Amino acid sequence: MSRAKKPFATRHPESLMMSYGYRPELSEGSLKSPIFQTSTFVFKNAEEGRRFFETAYGLRAPRRGESSGLIYSRINNPDLEILEDRLALWDGAEASSVFSSGMAAITTAILAFASPGDLIVHSEPLYGGTDHFFKSILPRFGVETAAFPSKLGPGALSRRLGGSRRGRLAMVFVETPANPTNEHTDIRACAAFARVFSSRGRRAVLAVDNTFLGPLWQRPLDHGADLSIYSATKFLGGHSDLIAGVCSGAKPLLAKVREMRTFLGSMASPWTGWLLLRSLETLKIRMTEQARNAEIVARHLARHPRVERVYYPGLLKADSVQGRLFSRQCLGPGSMISFDVRGGRARAYRFLDALRLVHLTVSLGGTESLAEHPATMTHCDVSAADKKRFGIGEGMVRLSVGIENHEDLLADLDAALAA
Ligand SMILES: *Cc1c(COP(=O)(O)O)cnc(C)c1O
Repeated sequence: MSRAKKPFATRHPESLMMSYGYRPELSEGSLKSPIFQTSTFVFKNAEEGRRFFETAYGLRAPRRGESSGLIYSRINNPDLEILEDRLALWDGAEASSVFSSGMAAITTAILAFASPGDLIVHSEPLYGGTDHFFKSILPRFGVETAAFPSKLGPGALSRRLGGSRRGRLAMVFVETPANPTNEHTDIRACAAFARVFSSRGRRAVLAVDNTFLGPLWQRPLDHGADLSIYSATKFLGGHSDLIAGVCSGAKPLLAKVREMRTFLGSMASPWTGWLLLRSLETLKIRMTEQARNAEIVARHLARHPRVERVYYPGLLKADSVQGRLFSRQCLGPGSMISFDVRGGRARAYRFLDALRLVHLTVSLGGTESLAEHPATMTHCDVSAADKKRFGIGEGMVRLSVGIENHEDLLADLDAALAA
């Protein structure tokens, strides 16, 4: 699909976000890409239309140097193609695809690989929407799911997967760090597990939801994952003003995901694609500043008498199992912090209601700091027993740190904790 010239392998993604994959001479010399707000594209002649459809529908492989032509915005659109070329740079991937939401990316990728009778194993806790899809929707289509605790990895499921079930594993799906406890799952161990339970004719795909740390602070493909999936609503979009999703990986796998996207119609719109192009130009400076603020906030909270415990990768003990995994697998601690306020739900609510600079809202990754109460908001439909098992307590608050001045953030948090 790519219209990009050869990658500038020696340049860093942040140097390429303003221009890569876009050619001004194709758009009246416009420095920035126009919004190609069109449903369909005009063919030069009938023969060209036939050729475009042949490659788009996989009736024949593209000839050397032949790029697939623009047909219809459910199949491809210049804003999405440019965006996808740039996203692939961040993930170190051969290809990326953009979706109308994070859930669209997750469900489209799963439907591309799972068939009735298959099994998917996944880490838990998971984002609520993904959890619901696994537990309530996939079983209706004959796809079975089995969960393992994120911290422990999939090894415990080995016995369940032996014998007659060998070859049935379609996918290992991991969300790391886990939301809201920030526990890391070992991606390499999951890749090894997927290999062991693949059969000759059937390779199990390892998909990692990389929303919390990626693409700056975690690159799952470097550790053996096949797919790196995002809610682009969060850090990639970064301004709390759009809903989108991304899936990156090797070309043959992405071809299957793209095929499913074409027929589900789960692609992003040109306008969303254009907004994301704008967002990616500042991705590195936003995420870097957010992480810088978060380290200051996390250390401050860890010393605060009204705070019982802080869950933040940057505070892990270097010689602990999780600490070693973090330093091997991640490039930075990111800007998601959870912490337990002493005094349970009443105190946590009082804190949330007293915040003035930080907004009381779900979602995360935006330029403004956001706080919420996982037990009664994002994770309200997790059973009481599971909340206990995962360590999602009544005093827990989840904080997404933004780019405000850190002194103002500390003052707001302190005032709210004192309330
Ligand atoms: C928000 C989120 C999703 C879902 O993304 P949407 O863009 O809301 O569809 C999936 N996974 C994680 C980890 C998320 O935070």
